[in-house]
Amino acid sequence: MDPDGRVQCPYDPNHFISENRMQYHLAQCKKKNPKKAKKMASCKYNARHVVPCENLQKHEANCQDKTGGQETAESGGGAESLALILTERLGRGGGERKPARYRKWAPP
Ligand SMILES: [Zn+2]
Ligand SMILES: [Zn+2]
Repeated sequence: MDPDGRVQCPYDPNHFISENRMQYHLAQCKKKNPKKAKKMASCKYNARHVVPCENLQKHEANCQDKTGGQETAESGGGAESLALILTERLGRGGGERKPARYRKWAPP
């Protein structure tokens, strides 16, 4: 019974955390994975968005939590997010088909 869309932990791909626990989990997991944490950076628009440092700029350029209404994805970052969404949906493998009501997607 977990209707929440779970999000993969950026520090450990085996962790799937529901959005409301994500922030807490990130703090914990960051301590356990200091090496990985060094290479990750959090999005300035949403602390739950933790991405590899080299992707941070790109992420922030396309971040959905960015206010300011710039909607044109300049370098195809949108397609990347879509692929991730699809991957996660497939990974869940549920038989039931729900409409495309996807909770606010948090790109890794
Ligand atoms: Zn984790
Ligand atoms: Zn972000």
